Amino acid sequence: MDDKRVRVRFAPSPTGGLHLGGVRTVLFNYLFAKHHGGDFILRIEDTDQTRFVPGAEEYIFNCLQWCGLQPDESAVHSGPYAPYRQSERKPLYKQYAEQLVKQGHAYYAFDTPEELDEMRVTFKTAENPSPQYNHALRQRMRNSLTLSEHEAQRLLDSNTPYVIRIKMPLDEEIRFTDMIRGEVTFNSSQADDKVLLKADGMPTYHLAVVVDDYLMKITHAFRGEEWLPSAPAHILLWKYLFGLENMPQWAHLPLILKPDGNGKLSKRDGDRLGFPVFAMDWTDPRSGEKTTGFKERGFLPEAFINMLAMLGWNDGTGQEIFTLDELLEKFNMDRVHKGGAKFDYEKAKWYNHEWIKKLPVANYQPLVKELFAEKGIEISDDVYLTKVLELVKERCTLLTDFVQQSSFFFQIPAEFDIAAVKPKWTEHKTQFFVELIRAYELMNLWQHDELEKEFKEIAAASQLKPGELMLPLRIMLVGAKFGPGVFEIAAAIGRDETIRRIKHLLALIQ
Ligand code: GLU
Repeated sequence: MDDKRVRVRFAPSPTGGLHLGGVRTVLFNYLFAKHHGGDFILRIEDTDQTRFVPGAEEYIFNCLQWCGLQPDESAVHSGPYAPYRQSERKPLYKQYAEQLVKQGHAYYAFDTPEELDEMRVTFKTAENPSPQYNHALRQRMRNSLTLSEHEAQRLLDSNTPYVIRIKMPLDEEIRFTDMIRGEVTFNSSQADDKVLLKADGMPTYHLAVVVDDYLMKITHAFRGEEWLPSAPAHILLWKYLFGLENMPQWAHLPLILKPDGNGKLSKRDGDRLGFPVFAMDWTDPRSGEKTTGFKERGFLPEAFINMLAMLGWNDGTGQEIFTLDELLEKFNMDRVHKGGAKFDYEKAKWYNHEWIKKLPVANYQPLVKELFAEKGIEISDDVYLTKVLELVKERCTLLTDFVQQSSFFFQIPAEFDIAAVKPKWTEHKTQFFVELIRAYELMNLWQHDELEKEFKEIAAASQLKPGELMLPLRIMLVGAKFGPGVFEIAAAIGRDETIRRIKHLLALIQ
């Protein structure tokens, strides 16, 4: 790496929820920038007014904040290359498009949408089912290459709508070195004459990305593999407009694949297989359609980020759990795989479980408290809540599991699984629990080992096996067959509540 300050960008189009693949692109950008002490820029690519979705931009910022991947420069954070929203940079792009026309690398095209449709029908053949506006067809269309100079000027002067298209050269080899794929070669004849400037004066992505990467001094551009086919046009634009000298190094990140087949993971796969693909909940303001995100599903940002880093990267040692700081230190483009990475929801949950165990409960306690409140359980004793979360965290994969795993610590269970104890119930057992209540009422130290000791002594005296009595006690305290150690539960909920629940079940059983 030379000594130029590293500057990378994430350049989303604010058109909807942020997909796993998008957040992974953010993450790799962020890790790379921070590993090299550089800047991470967020640029909003909103030049396609027809795809504008209200709220989508704010949503992107919220997601980045949740993930802890804050940009150094953006439309919100500002910076020396503002504005960072392409729609606000509109006046800037036209001169570059015009420069290209002057240089002979681009041309005005006056074709109406109807004429373009007609082209697609007229030139459709078995070998060429979707004809493109390219070197072969441009000669048959209405543009400044086919019209006389005078006629083209007349159309421009009379405000006829036009676009500016790149004139892709014929049979030229275009090559570049991708940081992940190595040497990549294209033949220019394969690409179409992409629109650079639209009739509304807005640039397309192709022009805007090159101009802004140049003006914002981007040194490395990471984006999804789906952009690889556009790379030849971008490389040529770099060459025509700026010489190639300051062109960023490109890295086309492999796709995140469906868990059960080939192809890019989509929102539909998530709906079909029952897992989220968006970072956070997203409601489409146009259709009202709601999509669940990882956050609301109960993922910790630490786990989400860790899981995403491992989708396409590893450090070569087999280590799987990484903090963001460790990732920053170890992340290296050389270890990003070329092939797509299959998304595995079970593995994603495994990461979350590991992180729930690893983090101090204080990190997620407020979130769990909110989840309880949503279920109508208001918790005021934070010390008690911490104790409870410590007791059950081993059993929770998602944050939402805490409510199910521990609500009996805060309220008497709504239901008791009587069927689990009734068939083997005897009068002898009733007597045991009556004894136990008496002993527990008199105990000095309400601690789990003391409670266990007392329980076992009475069992022995009654000639009952403790094993046969543990399940009933669990059903009494929890309502069902789950949860941490019964005596730990009794210790936590306290004497009155323990005795109340034992009595309650004895009454139900008889
Ligand atoms: N606006 C493009 C997108 O939404 C950005 C691709 C790039 O990073 O160049 O995917």
